[in-house]
Amino acid sequence: MELDGSGDLTNKVALVTGAGSGIGAAVARLLAARGARVVVADRDEGGARKVSDEIGGFAVVADVTDPAQVTAMVAAAVAEFGGLHIAVNNAGISTGSGVPTGETEFDAWRQVLAVNLDGVFLCLRAELAVMGPAGEGAIVNMASILGSVAVPGAAAYVASKHAVVGLTRTTALEYAQTGIRVNAVGPGFIDTPLLGERTPEAHEELLARHPVGRLGRADEVAAVVGFLVSPAASFVTGAHYTVDGGYTAR
Ligand code: NAP
Repeated sequence: MELDGSGDLTNKVALVTGAGSGIGAAVARLLAARGARVVVADRDEGGARKVSDEIGGFAVVADVTDPAQVTAMVAAAVAEFGGLHIAVNNAGISTGSGVPTGETEFDAWRQVLAVNLDGVFLCLRAELAVMGPAGEGAIVNMASILGSVAVPGAAAYVASKHAVVGLTRTTALEYAQTGIRVNAVGPGFIDTPLLGERTPEAHEELLARHPVGRLGRADEVAAVVGFLVSPAASFVTGAHYTVDGGYTAR
């Protein structure tokens, strides 16, 4: 069988969470450019509508921590476009608190885990309910290099992203023979609003952690997501692809 390496996604329906900003917006743009019909989901209505208008997608306002909203989000995607073939579970937050584990407030811990881990689980569950019976699907969960390595002062974020990698592998194994592939992408530090304000010194320190000497761009992460959801990645499942300018190669 000839492998289709074009990345063409015509007639595919794709759902991207956290698509109103940063990496999710870049993923939504790329998938639309490749012909997919894209559901642009975000809790931020303004961001979702802006990206959706730009790419001719369908905006859905949903908070991924709320099971009912996640179910409604997937149902809206299916009602609008008639199915669901691709899902990119990308919505995530960082507290950027910088405090050590022993001083981490339980509420702050819960908040990060609720979005970064519960949110991915809830989305997976709702997406698999549609993709399972159809016997076709490609899912990408947005992890992080902090799903492979740690930094001090980010216990909740690091734990959540390690858990996303484990959840991805588990789900991939469970669905490996059903036509559904599940992978994770692990970006290094990417220049998006998630990184927040930083001093020039902190910025330099961040650059120095990446052997290529710069931060990544959202479109560089989107390119790898685009590969993973395409037919060219037909033998790729249960993987965690880092996109990190060499950060984890040290
Ligand atoms: P971003 O620019 O802040 O975009 C994230 C989007 O997700 C925002 O629109 C945000 O809305 C939305 N969101 C947050 N919580 C949500 C929820 N509960 N339900 C629905 N939408 C929600 O961040 P990004 O850098 O693109 O990050 C995207 C993903 O990549 C995250 O999972 C992040 O952990 C991961 N990642 C980022 C980096 C990086 O350096 N930027 C590195 C590794 C991994 P609000 O604006 O309302 O919060």
